[in-house]
Amino acid sequence: MIRRDALLRLYNTLLSRREELLRQLNTDMTSLGGSSGGSRDEADAAFDSDSEEINSTLAERDSEELTSIDHALVRLKQGTYGTCEGCGGKISAKRLNALPYSSLCIDCQREKEDQPDWEPKALASRYSQLGNVPTLSGDDMPHINIARVQFDS
Ligand SMILES: [Zn+2]
Repeated sequence: MIRRDALLRLYNTLLSRREELLRQLNTDMTSLGGSSGGSRDEADAAFDSDSEEINSTLAERDSEELTSIDHALVRLKQGTYGTCEGCGGKISAKRLNALPYSSLCIDCQREKEDQPDWEPKALASRYSQLGNVPTLSGDDMPHINIARVQFDS
């Protein structure tokens, strides 16, 4: 019933996705720094400004995803992974497969999208202090309390 292998795989998937994003963000930041030297005409300048805008949008999206992944890793570690932060119910395995770092069940997600001022019903914003997300390393894995993780399988 508790699929430790699946959890380990998920943990590793999240970690490697995280590394990929970090690399991507570094690349974005580097290109955001702009190229220097050489003579540039206005067309070049316009092109650069366009691509900077695109890059910064990508960087923003990547860092949001990164935040979600960190969030999911912490939840894995705390044994709250798979629990909806809105209603405290279980997030379906199907949804977790599609969105491994989702922290809301499909119902709460829909409510949230419908209501701009939506707030979690059950769990107060206990995990919303993302500034306090601890740094995780592979060594933390053995301490994950998988006994509390449940899947609808
Ligand atoms: Zn929910």
